[in-house]
Amino acid sequence: MTSTWRRAHRVVRGAAQIARALVSTRHPILVQIVPIRRCNLACAYCNEYDSVSQPVPLDIMLRRVDKLAELGTAMITVSGGEPLMHPDLEAIIRRMRERGIIASVITNGYYLSKERIERLNAARLDYLQISVDNVEPDEVSLKSLRLLEPKLRWLAEHAEFDVNINSVLGAGIKNPEDALVVARRARELGFTSTLGILHDGQGQLDPLGPRAMAVYRALRAFGSGDGIRLSGGFQDNLAEGRPNNWRCRAGARYLYVDEHGTVHYCSQMRGTPGVPLESYTQADLDREYATEKSCAPMCTIGCVQRVAQFDNWRSPQRAPTGRPERPPALATPAPVATVPVATVPTRVSRVPQRGEMA
Ligand code: SF4
Ligand code: SF4
Repeated sequence: MTSTWRRAHRVVRGAAQIARALVSTRHPILVQIVPIRRCNLACAYCNEYDSVSQPVPLDIMLRRVDKLAELGTAMITVSGGEPLMHPDLEAIIRRMRERGIIASVITNGYYLSKERIERLNAARLDYLQISVDNVEPDEVSLKSLRLLEPKLRWLAEHAEFDVNINSVLGAGIKNPEDALVVARRARELGFTSTLGILHDGQGQLDPLGPRAMAVYRALRAFGSGDGIRLSGGFQDNLAEGRPNNWRCRAGARYLYVDEHGTVHYCSQMRGTPGVPLESYTQADLDREYATEKSCAPMCTIGCVQRVAQFDNWRSPQRAPTGRPERPPALATPAPVATVPVATVPTRVSRVPQRGEMA
């Protein structure tokens, strides 16, 4: 199948899933799964990685994908840690596609090679997102345009999946103007571009300073009529430090499944509902769909907000009530057997010099 046909097929499948999400409120639209918590980087603002854990074995990951398919999941995003450190990532993606699920990966891009891109093509990956935090690497983040440029060119030449570049503003980012440079480069390469506003340790808003605000306005202007995608009024409010009025459907329309196979609201609200995926039921989905989340007004987690747009116009939520009697997931993590990490350098502890990443 050519890239053009693959894209057309992707659009048709996406439209079908959108229609299904509008017709029924009783299945997850987006699930984020973590096949490995380990990451080769250590971004200063991140609380979602460690430097030691092993990949979740393939058979366990495939069972989780099958369970999500049974729940009617429309799309799964594989994240981490760094998902490209999982030696069986492509097999996980292949199973998603076999089960009719739209397959997406979020990566820091360091382990992309021409050969790895071809393996992702062969697995029929639909979407890949790379977050590029700055133009030059610094002590906050090594996800820089200069270091990732060769990977981005390989993606432009070889990827049969859609690529999105996410630039960021907010907590910890030293040069907010870099976000404009990143967005322009994404467009030159034929990718889409999104903007993330970084959150604090609880997923809540840190209002933008004057420089970041100026960049935000420039990106908004830059985004009209081209490839920049922003989630409209939500991000306008976040940038200005204003609360949003929306209905977070985490636990129902959006699930975060950690490396232990436990369902959480999102990466920043781990522990609730804290139910093992293998015993997650339609009753869990229905309960969380109807439950108000008190953290919603100042939440910056864009993917959950985008998912919520399918339902914000319907089904008012009730205030949180008693939780079902379930063991707290993070207190009793399931043992994770170990398999070898892909043969890659395990950690970057210094800023690579020009040319080292090429
Ligand atoms: S690359 Fe991603 S997972 Fe790794 S430390 Fe940075 S933000 Fe966290
Ligand atoms: S509002 Fe929803 S997505 Fe945002 S932090 Fe709370 S539970 Fe997570």
